[in-house]
Amino acid sequence: MFKDTLKSQQPVVFRILDNALKNDNLSHCYLFTGPRGTLKQETAFLLAQSLVCSHKVGNWACEECLECIRIKNDSYVDFIYLDGSRELLKIEHINTIQDQFSQTALEAAGKKVFIINDCENMTLKAANSLLKFIEEPSDNMVGIFVTSQPERLLPTIISRCQKISFRPLPKTMFYDFAIQNDIDPLNAHLLSELVQNKEQLLAVSNTSTYQNAVNYFVEFMTYYFKNKKTAMIYLENNLFNTNQSDRKSDRECFQYFLNIATVFADDYHDNIVIDDQSWETLLNTAREKNFASGKFLKAVTTGKDALIHSANLLLIIDQFLYNLSGGE
Ligand SMILES: [Zn+2]
Repeated sequence: MFKDTLKSQQPVVFRILDNALKNDNLSHCYLFTGPRGTLKQETAFLLAQSLVCSHKVGNWACEECLECIRIKNDSYVDFIYLDGSRELLKIEHINTIQDQFSQTALEAAGKKVFIINDCENMTLKAANSLLKFIEEPSDNMVGIFVTSQPERLLPTIISRCQKISFRPLPKTMFYDFAIQNDIDPLNAHLLSELVQNKEQLLAVSNTSTYQNAVNYFVEFMTYYFKNKKTAMIYLENNLFNTNQSDRKSDRECFQYFLNIATVFADDYHDNIVIDDQSWETLLNTAREKNFASGKFLKAVTTGKDALIHSANLLLIIDQFLYNLSGGE
């Protein structure tokens, strides 16, 4: 059960919420903050389930009954889930919550819950509208905002929420799990940085988009240290599938590529040693060439932002390469 995972991996968070549930003393708004992969989103869903579950075990949701399943599948009527990692959240999204939450609860539990994942990806207009909404919460509603970048939120929103901090999980846990599942050391290392949970780790490791991204990245960097122009041509030719029908996997592949790039820059910066010949060679070359990891990371971060905000993948890749070359 996820609640057991939460208890063992985020004991402080577990205790705070356990008390609030026990005393029926929940805040109207929570802000779950902490690095990626720290179980924030899973905890948000568990909290939502715990408010409506009809078969509670102690203070927490059973995670198995119909209500729990419907929250999990986002098919519970008095529940709204918005995901800023998939699209930029606009005022229309916030209006949906307002409209639905201004009516009486339809489900038996009489509670209304919304979760906004990666809530920093919201227009200013939407954020202001949201602020107005949470300034006058109704009695039976709970809102949960999830973010790994609280610095991008309006301070006035933060001050309205009870902040709950999730601490980083030991990456070694995911790494060991990957190794136990016959994943090689490089992929175990990369995946443990990219995923949020064990199921996702296994699922992602098997996708061709992820595997392609790893290969493209290693090839790209090998070229990059020799000749930047060649590297860029290589990336454009490979990452941008000219087959129009497969844009979605192109995007996904580039997203993995950028995430792998972040791991690489961090490894370089922190002098991490991985038991993998190709990765070690890349890191050594980076050291020899005085790799400008700061500039590199900045281009990567801008690219990640652009992936959320812009639809034109080719343009995003071009902009990324342009930033990487420092506008040369
Ligand atoms: Zn339940």
